[in-house]
Amino acid sequence: MRFAIVNGIRAEAAKGVKGICPSCESELIPKCGEHRINHWAHKGTRTCDAWWEPETEWHRSWKSNFSDDWQEVILVDR
Ligand SMILES: [Zn+2]
Repeated sequence: MRFAIVNGIRAEAAKGVKGICPSCESELIPKCGEHRINHWAHKGTRTCDAWWEPETEWHRSWKSNFSDDWQEVILVDR
């Protein structure tokens, strides 16, 4: 995912920073390297998002056509 909660604010992955998943509120680790785009990941293989899929630069580029606050918005149907 692109955004995690860091100190109460949505933030992109950065080395050495710990984030909180906006969906399940578990800790996320930043993945910042040269082979894949920067993103946040749950520890292990856990995912709380049934719609999760690997995100490529192409995918990230399309998402960036919308403002940051329109991306990865969580809506719950109660
Ligand atoms: Zn989660």
